[in-house]
Amino acid sequence: MTRDITDFIRTIPDFPQKGVMFRDVTTLFGNPEGMKLAVAQIVDAFKDTEITAVAGLEARGFIIGGAVAERLGTGFVPLRKKGKLPGKTLSEDYTLEYGTATIEVHDDALKAGDKVLLIDDLIATGGTAAAGIKLVERLGATVVHAAFIIDLPDLGGAQVVRDLGVPVTALCAYD
Ligand code: 5GP
Repeated sequence: MTRDITDFIRTIPDFPQKGVMFRDVTTLFGNPEGMKLAVAQIVDAFKDTEITAVAGLEARGFIIGGAVAERLGTGFVPLRKKGKLPGKTLSEDYTLEYGTATIEVHDDALKAGDKVLLIDDLIATGGTAAAGIKLVERLGATVVHAAFIIDLPDLGGAQVVRDLGVPVTALCAYD
């Protein structure tokens, strides 16, 4: 029997705070069948496209993004939390539910003309992905598509990304 992506995702109520249903992808990544399914579904969607690089958002976007990059035959660019990258960086601030955060990229990680697939595990409000798109585009590259394992459509993030002109693919959605 073919299994669905959601079969491998665990929901943990009240994490990181009361009232939040946290969609835990460590159970997907930890299962050989689940990991294979998620990587294959993203690779199948993009294998005949002109993508020249995969950019992943820290930290779960590194796990899925690295595997996808290897299968697509591209390099992988980490978009990291502030202060982690050793070289010269560009930074982008974005809003979280409480407060702000910053992500960074090495200023030589991409070049003008690169066609980038942006990857993260989940899109909620879209703030993280939008900051990632801005960083990539400040390097002169273009985000041609954004892919997520999970979309939370009620939070509107996929629409935020589409409004930036970037098409969105998600392997599953939770209300
Ligand atoms: P956004 O910026 O779209 O509001 O939030 C997306 C970011 O928060 C992603 O980097 C994602 O990893 C993280 N995130 C928020 N909620 C969840 C959740 O329920 N499960 C997982 N796995 N990540 C979440």
